[in-house]
Amino acid sequence: MDCIFCKIVRGEMPCSKVYEDDKVLAFNDIDPQAPVHVLVIPKKHYGSILDIKDDEMDIVAHIHKIINKIAKEKGIDKTGFRIVNNCGEDANQVVKHIHYHILGGKKL
Ligand code: AMP
Ligand code: ZN
Repeated sequence: MDCIFCKIVRGEMPCSKVYEDDKVLAFNDIDPQAPVHVLVIPKKHYGSILDIKDDEMDIVAHIHKIINKIAKEKGIDKTGFRIVNNCGEDANQVVKHIHYHILGGKKL
């Protein structure tokens, strides 16, 4: 599939890895909008939340578990942060592989 985040998952494109397990990958955004700007993605391709079936929604809980862990590791649990998931055209979703932005390290 011609999807840049799938290519990163397959190791065909480099990334600045923050966390990886069998289900998810987290890496630093290539164009950071804050001192901490990490993307968390499922390894399986879903275009957006709209593509995740009811019986697969545990991946969303898992992603949030990893966001919690990364926020603590980066020290932004104390100062606060934003979790952003852009879905579709009006939200300006550019990469059509679901991803959660973790933004923090400054007053947003
Ligand atoms: P969105 O508008 O939610 O689709 O955001 C896509 C995000 O992916 C943007 O913040 C981009 O900077 C980021 N991005 C695009 N390509 C890469 C890449 N190869 N490695 C890391 N981040 C990327
Ligand atoms: Zn993909």
